[in-house]
Amino acid sequence: MGNPVIVCKNLTRRFGSFTAVDHVSFEVQGGSIFGFLGPNGSGKSTVIRMLCGILAPTEGSASIDGIDVVDQNARLKGRIGYMSQKFSLYDELTVHENLLFYGKLYGLKGEKLRARHQELIKLTHLEPYLNRRAALLSGGWRQRLAMACALVHEPTVLFLDEPTAGIDPVARRELWDLLFEFSSMGMTLFVTTHYMDEAERCTHVGYIYMSKLVVCGMPDELKNLPEVNPPGTRRVDVTCEHVTTALQQMRHLPGVLSATVFGQSMHLLLDPSINDQLILDKLRSGGISHADIHNIGPSLEDVFVALTDKHAQETGAVA
Ligand code: ADP
Ligand code: MG
Repeated sequence: MGNPVIVCKNLTRRFGSFTAVDHVSFEVQGGSIFGFLGPNGSGKSTVIRMLCGILAPTEGSASIDGIDVVDQNARLKGRIGYMSQKFSLYDELTVHENLLFYGKLYGLKGEKLRARHQELIKLTHLEPYLNRRAALLSGGWRQRLAMACALVHEPTVLFLDEPTAGIDPVARRELWDLLFEFSSMGMTLFVTTHYMDEAERCTHVGYIYMSKLVVCGMPDELKNLPEVNPPGTRRVDVTCEHVTTALQQMRHLPGVLSATVFGQSMHLLLDPSINDQLILDKLRSGGISHADIHNIGPSLEDVFVALTDKHAQETGAVA
């Protein structure tokens, strides 16, 4: 790690009067796994498309390895791999044939094509599925094939747009293991995801909300930001039954600064006036007789919730 490989400055894209990406600036260091998060429609794919030179920025600039994404589009193509949200595999072709097809598309032939084909199979562990038609692969293996195809020309920066969407948890973890392997080989990875557990695996994360970059940094650094941990406050996890009902009660309890559901429990940010007994009493008055409460540090999701609220207040947007 060290030098910035991806650099965006005030990157902006408008579609008519709508601004899909609004003055986004950040840098990604070489060798990092950069997780790009944000709700649907916040502008993640549009940023990727601009970084890959597919879509021209309306304003601002971006470069990869010092190559301007607009002016030096042809050179850029050799450096980057792009696995889009709907990466095109040929369903009626086998794994082997898809790899050959993409290899030829990138101008490989003869011994070079054969050698790269072998490398990619090894890299993505696709050997057992070589003769299977792409249409018959499970989600996880399909994504592996797509990754192999995106890596045919040995790019040093790989963009993956929601590579794990709609994939079961075991396959998701296996795909992440593969991403770590790529990273250990020195590749820089730019990954968008909806999943917070995946964000925690990244070396760096950026969060985009309503076209604007809210925050960017290393997970631990972000969890320690003062905006996330206002002085005197503490964060608790509350596990109880009827958690969505409990959430509404907590939102009406003075001194609860924020309340968010996390699976079977909720996270509360509390000012110093609130002790655990007050929470238990409030829940009991609403018919919830038992709850487990314990102090926690912020998760990345807490970080994004806290910073989005602050950002919305500052910009007058509705969070
Ligand atoms: P994300 O990937 O975060 O879900 P996108 O970057 O795909 O978000 O989209 C951001 C916003 O820009 C959305 O409101 C989307 O409808 C809009 N958008 C994206 N591409 C186009 C386009 N080609 N024309 C018009 N609007 C677009
Ligand atoms: Mg998208």
